[in-house]
Amino acid sequence: MPLTEKQILEWLDEVKDPEIPVLSLVDLGVITGISIPDSTTVSIEMTPTFVGCPALDMMKNDVIAVLKKKGVQQVNVEISFKKSWTSDKISEKGRKALKQFGLAPPPAGKVLLEDLDILEHVPCPRCNGTNTQLKNPFGPTLCRSIHYCNDCHEAFEQFKPV
Ligand SMILES: [Zn+2]
Repeated sequence: MPLTEKQILEWLDEVKDPEIPVLSLVDLGVITGISIPDSTTVSIEMTPTFVGCPALDMMKNDVIAVLKKKGVQQVNVEISFKKSWTSDKISEKGRKALKQFGLAPPPAGKVLLEDLDILEHVPCPRCNGTNTQLKNPFGPTLCRSIHYCNDCHEAFEQFKPV
């Protein structure tokens, strides 16, 4: 069966973000190019979410491993900085997955980082309330910030908008 871009995307859906096991790289929006130069070769372009994200090498190796497992003989992964990743590249399915994981998804669409109101009143993934406050803009990883919900009296993390 000839390889198609659609098939490759389906296979890549198995590759999850190492830090967020419910979110695939496809839903995260980091797979920015797929080409199939010949019947045994697949070239993938990945745009990293955050420059220097330590998970990048792991993601790259996972992409190669999954495609090889599916029978692709030659897999090339190119890390590209031509386009910059923005959090609105996260798919609708990805946003839902983040929320179920207990991580507030970044707001959809373009966000002005100056818009502190959005950052300070991130909807709580448990109760959807916006009676929340920003506790720490730097969570356990570069990609997350820590918030506190005044209604649930619990802290939660947000996948930061960029
Ligand atoms: Zn809450």
